[in-house]
Amino acid sequence: MSDKFLTVAVPVPLRKSFDYLIPAELSQQQDWIGCRVQVPFGRRQLVGVVIASSNTSETPEAKLKAISARLDNTPVLDNKLLRLGAWMAQYYLHAIGEVYALLLPSALRKGGASLPADIPYIEKCFGQLSDVHESLKQAKKQLALCAAIACEAKPLSEIRAAYSASIIKDLQTKGLIRQTNKAYKPDTSWPERLLDAEHYGANIEQSIAISAINQAKGFASFLLEGVTGSGKTEVYLQVIEPRLAKGQQVLILVPEIGLTPQTVKRFEQRFGNIVGVLHSGLNDTQRLRIWQQAQANELGIVIGTRSSIFTPFAQLGMIIVDEEHDESFKQQDGVKYHARDIAVYRANQLNIPLIMGSATPSLETLHNAFIKKYHHCQLTQRAANASMPTQLLLDVKGQALKLGIAQGLIDKMQTQLAQGNQVLVFVHRRGYSPALLCHQCGHVETCVDCDNPYTVHKVSNNLQCHRCCNQRSIPRQCQQCGHKDLDTFGLGTEQIEQGMASLFPDYSCVRIDSDSTRGKGKLSHLLEQINAQTHQILIGTQILSKGHHFPNVTLAIILNVDGSLFSADFRAPEKLGQLITQLSGRAGRANKPGEVWLQTHHPQHPLLQDLVQNGFADYARSLLLERKEACLPPYEYQILLRVESANMGLITPFLNDAASLLSQLSKLKVIGPLPCAIEKKQGRFRMMLLIQSASRSYLHKALNDALPIIESHANSSKIRWSLDVSPLDF
Ligand code: ADP
Ligand code: ZN
Repeated sequence: MSDKFLTVAVPVPLRKSFDYLIPAELSQQQDWIGCRVQVPFGRRQLVGVVIASSNTSETPEAKLKAISARLDNTPVLDNKLLRLGAWMAQYYLHAIGEVYALLLPSALRKGGASLPADIPYIEKCFGQLSDVHESLKQAKKQLALCAAIACEAKPLSEIRAAYSASIIKDLQTKGLIRQTNKAYKPDTSWPERLLDAEHYGANIEQSIAISAINQAKGFASFLLEGVTGSGKTEVYLQVIEPRLAKGQQVLILVPEIGLTPQTVKRFEQRFGNIVGVLHSGLNDTQRLRIWQQAQANELGIVIGTRSSIFTPFAQLGMIIVDEEHDESFKQQDGVKYHARDIAVYRANQLNIPLIMGSATPSLETLHNAFIKKYHHCQLTQRAANASMPTQLLLDVKGQALKLGIAQGLIDKMQTQLAQGNQVLVFVHRRGYSPALLCHQCGHVETCVDCDNPYTVHKVSNNLQCHRCCNQRSIPRQCQQCGHKDLDTFGLGTEQIEQGMASLFPDYSCVRIDSDSTRGKGKLSHLLEQINAQTHQILIGTQILSKGHHFPNVTLAIILNVDGSLFSADFRAPEKLGQLITQLSGRAGRANKPGEVWLQTHHPQHPLLQDLVQNGFADYARSLLLERKEACLPPYEYQILLRVESANMGLITPFLNDAASLLSQLSKLKVIGPLPCAIEKKQGRFRMMLLIQSASRSYLHKALNDALPIIESHANSSKIRWSLDVSPLDF
């Protein structure tokens, strides 16, 4: 007998699923689980995923509605992905319907077709190619198109890529070609197209890592901790190869900024054209296409950012998370998942190896390597004979600074530039200046919605709030006292870029920050210019620190590292070490040795000394000891309850009640209510409660038990609140 009821995960912010009736006309259909259905929900129609079918329902039948339509004949989420979704809902304490929505590409979320429909093809209407030779003698391109399809019809997309619309149209008008449709059939022939490309003979450390990974049977996690330029990518390439040769697919996760053409090219050069790239420039259709191709085994490799971890595969054989410490792997809104957590889950579920690579591993991952949960492979030397740059501290106490830079370092810049080398200056803030200040009364222009000083932007000639999108023109006089004596306060990238032009008029300066790199292809264009030595001075924010290869940079200057030494964020020293090490990794890559100078008022600070003298690996180990003593992650686990509302009066009782509820549990530490690091944003106050425990399972169970009570709080529906498991930001 067929089932009568479907349990559907509907994308609404409620931590439950909903039962629906199967309408009479669909009662004979089977295999519902993992398929999408359209369902009535309140007054709306939503697209949900069927997670169970049954003959019984806990809800009385009279109260149930029927689904409006079935959208898939075959599941869009297989059993494994369905289980992943269920696990995520539990682990991240998040509404299940929203989790399943996250697992789908947005075209499917909106109800689009899950399988490619018929594909348009171009086929010939002539007999032999020789029949058209004479008539197309004067039209070489048209003849070429005819030749291309003489043996076999070709997809329209392929023809369009090679020939202009007018050529296609002319031939159609002449009646020599026509458009037809062919049913989509996956082309799974990619293993035959693998290139037999040359590769480096691996050095000893690389060989040890490669053979450890290649010998992995089933699930195993590896931390590949290798200094910048040690050849981690080469290790990836050499462990991917045997997987592909066995017909298995490989998923490579990279940080947002890592998806530069250079990275993708390295994989394409080695393996040929079997790589699918999921980047932010794709539209819904293109994204769906890669998803389908991976699912149908039409691609050997998928490279993508965070959300690519949800790509379905026919034969996934390995997952690689490159730059595993990068914060872009953590989603900061909606389901606040960490792609690295999901990678561990999927690799375990599929019984395949997972490789996490970094020169500056997160303390969480490093800890897992130390307790032998992960195999630990280390690359301590730079490949290709390049030496590591020297890191030095510059005490700026009492020194006169020009553009925030000490004279001694300006002299060093001059020397390096004169020798034809490039120099890099790292600045924390983008814009011209982080504040506009009245010299008469001290008033600082502030965004009223966020209580945040406006950043002065000279390029766009306005004030911008970096928390929200508020912008306004630069006032001529103080809004408080009316004086015209307004001055900028503090240095941003724009100001330093501008100043460099007068300090070093003979050299070209380029600014790399999120303003200057906005727009498709902008960053790669600027990177190409840098490597073509169009520019000699590189000014930028942390975008500069990410994975690029600047062989001619011999001097890097990092301004103002002190902020991170005295931050309220316990992760600040870890982030600082990663930033400094990654920035250093950009310098001295080729055979030119590099120097990295850190400007500080605290050159004797033990953390800075440790980092500079012993390197990140040692430094990270010291930080772990500190974390252990302070009972902080990764030794204890945290969940953050974050609340936002324009009405502080609604926040306080909600958090106080949650705090007293959770404080009754002796194994929990409850910290707060406290203001978030960003106390106000877009007119809403932000407060938090931090819940911590030495036992992850206890923490999760406690929150699971408490959630229904928190949800039923009188203020619960009047404020915005969310849970963040293992938060990175507070
Ligand atoms: P990472 O990913 O660790 O930063 P890469 O894989 O980019 O390092 O390697 C750094 C440089 O060293 C690259 O130019 C790469 O081609 C080269 N390289 C890597 N492995 C070897 C090797 N075994 N012998 C010679 N050169 C190598
Ligand atoms: Zn604002």
